[in-house]
Amino acid sequence: MKTAILGGGLSGLTLARLLQEQGEEVVVLEAEQEYGGLCRSKTDQGFTFDIGGSHIIFSRDAEVLAFMRRMIEGNEERNNRTTKIFYKERFVKYPFENGLSDLPQEDRFFCINEFIKTLIAVEKGEISAPANFREWIYHTFGKGIAECYMIPYNEKIWKYPTEKMSLHWVDGRIPRPPVEDIIRSAIGIDTEGYTHQAVFSYPLDGGIMALVCAIARPVERYINTGFRVTSVTKSGETWQISNGDTCVQADRCICTMPVQHLLPCLADVPDKVKKAADALKFNSLICVNIGINGSVPGISWLYVPDPAMGRTNRISFPSGYSRHAAPEGCSAILAEITHQPGDDVAGLTDDELKNEVVDMLRSMQILHKDQIVFTSVERQPFAYVVYDLDYQTNIAIIKEYCMKIDIPLVGRFAQFEYLNMDGCIRSVMDFIAAEKLP
Ligand SMILES: Cc1cc2nc3c(=O)[nH]c(=O)nc-3n(C[C@H](O)[C@H](O)[C@H](O)COP(=O)(O)OP(=O)(O)OC[C@H]3O[C@@H](n4cnc5c(N)ncnc54)[C@H](O)[C@@H]3O)c2cc1C
Repeated sequence: MKTAILGGGLSGLTLARLLQEQGEEVVVLEAEQEYGGLCRSKTDQGFTFDIGGSHIIFSRDAEVLAFMRRMIEGNEERNNRTTKIFYKERFVKYPFENGLSDLPQEDRFFCINEFIKTLIAVEKGEISAPANFREWIYHTFGKGIAECYMIPYNEKIWKYPTEKMSLHWVDGRIPRPPVEDIIRSAIGIDTEGYTHQAVFSYPLDGGIMALVCAIARPVERYINTGFRVTSVTKSGETWQISNGDTCVQADRCICTMPVQHLLPCLADVPDKVKKAADALKFNSLICVNIGINGSVPGISWLYVPDPAMGRTNRISFPSGYSRHAAPEGCSAILAEITHQPGDDVAGLTDDELKNEVVDMLRSMQILHKDQIVFTSVERQPFAYVVYDLDYQTNIAIIKEYCMKIDIPLVGRFAQFEYLNMDGCIRSVMDFIAAEKLP
């Protein structure tokens, strides 16, 4: 059995490795010159940055976490999360509900009072069940936490109105601490939220790409980079996958690249399926990377909900994840800006983006301009799946079609689900386990 895997990101590479371990022949077809997808990293002038946004290794899934940690054994840094939210000139502990005592007094009262009022109203059945993400936020946290943090941050990252987002995905993805913790945190007793991420791993050398390189190592010779799949056809029992020049033949074909890239490669896709794919929402990402002489705050990463602070939604400090991510005496700062494909932000030049980020970091007193020794900008067309209200209908149409034509979809933009690295690896493991069933 020879399997062609379309896309050489984390999902495609994990799939190749695990299939090969059970004796299958594989070939990975990756459009870019380098494999790794969103999990690529670049080292330049001693600074290492993840180019698909700042990544950390964590999971609730013990088997997957053990797999990832085994892959980077001997190259692993363990870190305690110290994450903050930049709110009204101060650094508030993350998750916001666990950091209420860091708020100005009036805001603290607003948040806890509205939280309790909402809790009582929900208990009494005075508030109906939420129908969209915005309503879920108000329903779960009350008006205070919703308006001080949850709504502005979520609208900034998704670039999509929260009332037009579905809520099927929030459980487990959005920290939802126990009531006691919220009250404790409001009166100043220390609490920890989202605890499965409170300690995380990161490769000492090579950035997050060290993880995919380690996974890819046994199958490296079967990875064809610079192979942008443009057509996928089946004649008889044989798949033919082409980039316009070269044709690869295989007994089966598994897609880990975005479904939006797969469908145009296929002949006779029904209009209904094309329309469903066109209607799927996602956003893109720009990373502004800055290397400075000197130190940065001891924060793992910092959320920036306030639109007045600029377009950046999150700032991370990779030199805090690994002491090798910056030269001795220097620090690394990575600012993430999400945007909609093709919008005004996409048209901004690298210099415009860098200037905006540097001005923001100066206003937060994180750096002085004369400390900067390195800058770069990276852009990713596919960053986050955005779950709009029609998502479930549209994705069901696409998945049904791909199942019918016998192309399994595995991975973040193939399944078109908000999967982190652990979710991608879990999908691969489940896919392989399902195949073994009689
Ligand atoms: C800002 C940000 C931060 C994140 N942080 C974390 C984190 O801290 N921890 C975590 O666990 N996860 C994190 N993630 C999620 C993680 O990046 C993804 O889950 C994972 O990288 C997805 O891997 P994939 O292989 O499914 O998709 P991708 O990485 O998107 O790979 C798809 C591959 O298909 C290729 N391709 C596309 N079109 C074609 C074509 N026509 N022919 C051939 N190849 C093609 C692409 O070049 C790409 O290499 C983060 C994601 C983002 C955006």
